[in-house]
Amino acid sequence: MNKPFRTAAVLGAGIMGTQIAAHLANAGLTVHLLDLPAQSSDKNDLVETAFKKALKLSPPIFFTKKIAHRVILGNFEEHFHRVADVDWVIEAVVEKLDVKQQLMQQLETVIRADTIVSTNTSGLPIQAIAEGRSLSFRQRFLGTHFFNPPRYLKLLELIPTSDTNPDVLKRMQWFGRSGLGKGVVIAKDTPNFIANRIGMYAVMLGLQAWTTQGYTIEEIDALTGTLVGRPKSATFRTADLVGLDTLLYVIENLYPAIPNDESREVFRAPEVLRKLVSTGTLGAKTGQGFYKKQ
Ligand code: NAD
Repeated sequence: MNKPFRTAAVLGAGIMGTQIAAHLANAGLTVHLLDLPAQSSDKNDLVETAFKKALKLSPPIFFTKKIAHRVILGNFEEHFHRVADVDWVIEAVVEKLDVKQQLMQQLETVIRADTIVSTNTSGLPIQAIAEGRSLSFRQRFLGTHFFNPPRYLKLLELIPTSDTNPDVLKRMQWFGRSGLGKGVVIAKDTPNFIANRIGMYAVMLGLQAWTTQGYTIEEIDALTGTLVGRPKSATFRTADLVGLDTLLYVIENLYPAIPNDESREVFRAPEVLRKLVSTGTLGAKTGQGFYKKQ
């Protein structure tokens, strides 16, 4: 079913949401980008702050300045009704199952009968995110896992559930390739899917080499990055880019989900990671992670 998407809503304006919205706008869609409202009247909504920050990313996230106008900012409290008018809703909020489930419940009451809904979760069970929703909703629901940063990384994992309508999957597969220019892979609804499970394993082993074997962060990044020809994807640099809070959520969700997996202990959250997160040291998004942002 080769029908393009013209309008979308991205729920969550964090690292991924802002950049996914920009990617869709560059591809010609009109995009509503929503996040939590301001916590007090003298503060901007989170979405405005996040969007301003994203506009400073280098190289720019939009092909031209004009394209930025295709992204319409709003918050969940005042502007949620806007999702009633879009072809595709992408959920990209914090990696917590209960938050995502609640959002799906809210969405179900608002969206059109032909709107497709997807989640950008890194690894929560796709089926569980839509648990409790009607069959009609679940038939139009799947995982669309973009990789960070979405403007560089071509991979898009599509994760259907046993309820996802095959035509919905086909449409997303076609649009992912021809509309968004992605390399699309269909993944199974297994913990962390494919690429992230492998990637997280490598990151966790790198962390372990630091915490238990006496290597320095710089040594590990050199031998998982520049020295093996991957200048931008070294262990600790990747962790900072992902966000240390998101990394912690991902492994804390994964560990109990794989009780019989022989690699399980690799995913046990190291104390040092908990400490960093508890002090607000979250990586590039806060300016300080394993590295200070330059
Ligand atoms: P982020 O921390 O940058 O942004 C999360 C957003 O969720 C924030 O803007 C926050 O305001 C919002 N939020 C927090 N609590 C909320 C609540 N109770 N209700 C509604 N919104 C709330 O996170 P991110 O890195 O953009 O990740 C978003 C999603 O994408 C997660 O599911 C994550 O696992 C996934 N993902 C992340 C990466 C990555 O590298 N960071 C890559 C692929 C997928």
